[in-house]
Amino acid sequence: MRYYGDPILRKQAAKIKEVTPEIRQLAQDMIETMDAYKGIGLAANQIGKLLRIFVIRIEEMKEDGEFVPGEAKVYINPRLSHPAKETNSFLEGCLSFPGIHIEVNRPNRILVEAMNLEGRVFSEELDGFNARVVMHENDHINGTLYIDRCSKEERKRIEPKLRELKKRVVID
Ligand code: ZN
Repeated sequence: MRYYGDPILRKQAAKIKEVTPEIRQLAQDMIETMDAYKGIGLAANQIGKLLRIFVIRIEEMKEDGEFVPGEAKVYINPRLSHPAKETNSFLEGCLSFPGIHIEVNRPNRILVEAMNLEGRVFSEELDGFNARVVMHENDHINGTLYIDRCSKEERKRIEPKLRELKKRVVID
């Protein structure tokens, strides 16, 4: 895992030209890493690859109304558009910032167009938590982090934790 302080988290990832066996393997590795770290989303630069791909676990509702992580989904060369004007604030975490949760304000809905592992382009409108996760991961492949999107107060509150994290950044 690449942690805050690692320069790769600030870089623009490159477009994927073709879904090759290597890309399919990368997606598989990313899903395994996401699950091993008990995450619900992971972008390629978080494991050291500057490519426009991320994986998430779609949130599903169980019969009793409880939300649980569902199927894993792969997004290649994603394009986000038509964000809803209405926004909501929610506590977010990030695998590159262990133990740091901050309130982030994001649009309620977003339109996503991306390629899947079969090389086919799909589009979907996401809302709620799934929309939030996709926006968070899409930020990663553009070198943007959730700490760039929180309020000044939140940023100030976590500043000591960020300094700690930066000090012990390990590139593995
Ligand atoms: Zn993240």
